[in-house]
Amino acid sequence: MTHHNLCVLGSTGSIGENTLDVVRRHPKRFSIVSLSAHSRVDKMLEQCIEFTPKTVVMGSNKAADSLKEKLRERGINDIAVLYGPQALCDIAAANDADTVMAAIVGSSGLMPTMSAVNAGKRVLLANKEALVTSGQLFIDAVKASGAKLLPIDSEHNAIFQCLPELEQKRPGECALEDNGISKILLTGSGGPFRTMAAELLHTVSPDQACAHPNWDMGRKISVDSATMMNKGLEFIEAKWLFNVEPKQIQVVLHPQSTIHSMVQYKDGSVLAQMGNPDMRTPIAHALAYPERIDAGVEPLDFFNTKPFEFEAVDFERYPNLKLAIDACSMGQGACTALNAANEIAVEAFLAERIRFTDIFKINESSVNYFVSEQVSSIDDVIALDAKARAFASEQLISLEAEK
Ligand code: NDP
Ligand code: MG
Repeated sequence: MTHHNLCVLGSTGSIGENTLDVVRRHPKRFSIVSLSAHSRVDKMLEQCIEFTPKTVVMGSNKAADSLKEKLRERGINDIAVLYGPQALCDIAAANDADTVMAAIVGSSGLMPTMSAVNAGKRVLLANKEALVTSGQLFIDAVKASGAKLLPIDSEHNAIFQCLPELEQKRPGECALEDNGISKILLTGSGGPFRTMAAELLHTVSPDQACAHPNWDMGRKISVDSATMMNKGLEFIEAKWLFNVEPKQIQVVLHPQSTIHSMVQYKDGSVLAQMGNPDMRTPIAHALAYPERIDAGVEPLDFFNTKPFEFEAVDFERYPNLKLAIDACSMGQGACTALNAANEIAVEAFLAERIRFTDIFKINESSVNYFVSEQVSSIDDVIALDAKARAFASEQLISLEAEK
């Protein structure tokens, strides 16, 4: 049994809490050395009491002071409480952790995840936005440092599990054709609005968009699942993780979310990874890899599952998915700008400032505007991310007036 010391970035989120639930089941196997949250002080306080990390990072001085005070009241004085982006990068690279769970949401996760990569950690990648925004630069950094990349996103974890073992060891450099693989089949449920009349989509509320039929997730990724931008980000993520061309990736709608993705081989075999839709499965897989551990997930009951269905994607219903697939072929400028615009648009939708269907309008105009931007360093990524956010924020003012 291999023991791992963990840093969990974004420990108070949906992936973070699921990670700690798996860790809780295996106290001899995993130790928590550092945790991070943005503003949820009380949840972090509970995690500090249960998991006794050495260091915790919060999003602001105020949140850090509030946590320190609450820890002091409980007589806990041996946890260092820091705050801010540099402290996140520091805990991700610190010597005391060998494994980093990258589960901050959005492009705020880029620098801490890169920091873990540059320090050569085992990096459990949930924060797909980091890979989408930096693509080749991220993969180059993995190769240069010898970091071990393990996908947490359920689809990519499923694909990873269906690959030959040798290819699992070299993300970003896989040679799928040499291994007789013809295609990656990326499954998606279609989200909560798959069967809703298309002309009603502009009326849906944030709570309706966040009510995913199969998965319980944070609000940003839940909206992305409803627009299928999430599948678009995953398409780009798959290109980089598995070193494939866009034409080798096919999106398949599978409303039950029991099959989490598939790999098609040249001889006609299709390997699928299945299970109940519970993120603790990919999390436990990556935490213990290459060993297997109990994740607390109910085994799949084949006599009580709904019949499996498969459908082609209707891109008119999901224009954001088409836009992301196109961006994947256009280049890094388009992908970085799309991710940034989408974060702004989703935040505005969640705040009820724009309509659900306006998300696409903002995303499309941002891709068109920034498509020829060159991105050749992480500084370029950060600069373009900021420019695309500013551009998208301007776009949404006129849409807000129309709402
Ligand atoms: P949540 O919104 O549930 O959690 C986000 C975490 O990041 C929280 O700990 C939050 O802290 C912290 N955070 C938020 N904003 C910032 C910021 N600006 N700086 C630093 N930390 C911040 O998200 P999820 O857990 O759903 O998703 C996390 C990542 O995993 C995303 O990239 C998502 O795409 C990916 N993912 C998630 C899946 C899921 O099932 N949820 C499935 C596959 C991938 P606080 O709690 O204090 O706000
Ligand atoms: Mg996913």
